[in-house]
Amino acid sequence: MATEVKTTCPYCGVGCGVIATVGDGGSVSVKGDPDHPANFGRLCSKGSALAETLDLEDRLLHPEIDGRSVDWDEALDRVAKRFSRTIAEHGPDSVAFYVSGQLLTEDYYVANKLMKGFIGSGNIDTNSRLCMSSSVAGHRRAFGADTVPGCYEDLELADLVVLTGSNLAWCHPVLYQRLVAAKAARPQMRVVVIDPRRTMTADIADLHLAIRPDGDVALFNGLFAHLAASPSVDQAYISAHTSGFAEAFTAACALDAEGLTRATGLGEAELSAFFRLFETTQKVVTCYSQGVNQSVAGTDKVNAIINCHLATGRIGRPGMGPFSLTGQPNAMGGREVGGLANMLAAHMDIEKAGHRDQVRRFWGAPMLPSKPGLKAVDMFRAVADGRIKAIWIMATNPVVSMPDADAVEAALKACPFVVVSDVLKQTDTTRHAHVLLPSLGWGEKDGSVTNSERRISRQRGFLRPPGEARPDWWQLAEVGHRMGFSGAFAYTSPSEIFAEHAGLSGFENDGRRDFDIGAHASIDTAGYDALTPFQWPQPRGTESAATRFFADGGFYHPDGRARFIAAAGEVADRLSEAFPFTLNTGRVRDHWHTMTRTGKSARLSAHIGEPFAEIHPRDAMELGLSPADLVALESPYGAAIVRALITERQARGNLFVPMHWSDQFAAKARIDALVPPITDPVSGQPASKNVAVSARRF
Ligand code: SF4
Repeated sequence: MATEVKTTCPYCGVGCGVIATVGDGGSVSVKGDPDHPANFGRLCSKGSALAETLDLEDRLLHPEIDGRSVDWDEALDRVAKRFSRTIAEHGPDSVAFYVSGQLLTEDYYVANKLMKGFIGSGNIDTNSRLCMSSSVAGHRRAFGADTVPGCYEDLELADLVVLTGSNLAWCHPVLYQRLVAAKAARPQMRVVVIDPRRTMTADIADLHLAIRPDGDVALFNGLFAHLAASPSVDQAYISAHTSGFAEAFTAACALDAEGLTRATGLGEAELSAFFRLFETTQKVVTCYSQGVNQSVAGTDKVNAIINCHLATGRIGRPGMGPFSLTGQPNAMGGREVGGLANMLAAHMDIEKAGHRDQVRRFWGAPMLPSKPGLKAVDMFRAVADGRIKAIWIMATNPVVSMPDADAVEAALKACPFVVVSDVLKQTDTTRHAHVLLPSLGWGEKDGSVTNSERRISRQRGFLRPPGEARPDWWQLAEVGHRMGFSGAFAYTSPSEIFAEHAGLSGFENDGRRDFDIGAHASIDTAGYDALTPFQWPQPRGTESAATRFFADGGFYHPDGRARFIAAAGEVADRLSEAFPFTLNTGRVRDHWHTMTRTGKSARLSAHIGEPFAEIHPRDAMELGLSPADLVALESPYGAAIVRALITERQARGNLFVPMHWSDQFAAKARIDALVPPITDPVSGQPASKNVAVSARRF
């Protein structure tokens, strides 16, 4: 008889519920879960093709050392001994973990506990650094905690939805479908899309602002200055719940009208139409994603947006608020357990002695680092220059996805000890591993994930583990045990890890920390198996969470007030005669990350079959390009060759190239090889949206 299992999609941050049906002969089909509050039964093309990605072709099924199949004991002993020896000889900061928003919360929790609590280094960072760390930093500066104030329903309740740096139609398709349905039901709803490209998302826009790349701080500063001088400013909210208004207002007024036009690339009529719409609409949600986060000014952009909502008191009420759309399925879960190098578990701060003491006592840990570890870009620099001598990479493919990807590859090639846990045997990264550890994939592993609206859902296994593949948390716990930390890693199931994680979130938490799911601290395996999706927080003794935050203040800074942040000005142009085009990288609708899963589905690959560069017809003409010609792109860091896609959707002087393809799928296709290792100074997030390149017909 067929069995149905409720689980969660492993792709984007919408976090859709999926029902997987396993037939008698082992066949698998999937459909949307009508009871899941993220998607109510909908799935996008990627989610609905999940069953086509479950074959075992190219799977890594056995542990390997230097290309030789070995048993788990030998592989784990090798990892533990080499890490222990490196730490003994060079100190705890000579090792690192580079993990992933593809990990489940339980995997992430154990990785963070092992590195920060027992190895004693902050050197654990994640590919989520490339995804949303500017939003985390912006939230923490403004709210005093990494709290997303609203929920998906707010997009449906708003009268104005502003989408900035977000191609929602392709990157969060089910949320986009919800928005389209809401707009159809309430035609008075307005949508503004702010993006240098006219993406598919712009097709529902009442106003599309083709902003100059990185013009967002200037735009939202201009909006803030406009709102502050308009009747929409909420003086009562500002006085009761915020501080720093005057300084932020002064910074926002730094550009005059001409400067604003120059910095944003937008005309006065477009600017005033947007400002007026925002001013006169009470229910406004501003959604932002990688176009905001992946910038040298990513954190300032986030705060410039939040400033506008604080100034109008439009936050935490139905249909109002700033809303960060997380790219990955579990980037939020990773934040909750301290998967970023500058955070501790349960949203505690690594730099606060009191927080370190709480975590140390809860874990019974010998020590905790008192300073943040290396963030992703700096971590691979440290691998390159020999400060890091052993690295364990889990569920991610940095040789394709990191900026300056060629340098990352060279660093791994020269690194004395590289461990990679993956589901696939041959990726651009696994070929540099000394030890390869086979992990469970979607449909095989068990755990939990948190989506962009703070909703925790279960991912459940419904397939037998193939070969000798094992969960990532188990691999980490076994290595922890072999390094001599036995008692702290004696887990036998993900439910025990989840209960401990929930316990830590509620430990000595008197409401001064936002993340608290202490109500689940005593959960047992049966309760964990039956867990239905819920939003955090859920402190001990409560059954349902606050859906929204901050309508009446209650921010997490010690004085309970939000902070306006003086977001500074213009981002300097990096173009030159040699590199006259601005390259923007991003996703396409039907592929995910480096295509190690979606590349298996012929249906998904049929949408867009190869990498391309979107280019404006006038630019194409000047370069002598015809449709589908090959175009060679170059930056000071690397080169790629892709097809020309000539379209008026692209602005002149700009190029868009998807980030999915690796050299395994097409020659010279790794676009991140061109992206410089330049980061936002606050968040450490790379600037992948504004890269100076040259282009020529190949
Ligand atoms: Fe999966 Fe995102 Fe599509 Fe939902 S919208 S089915 S979470 S990829």
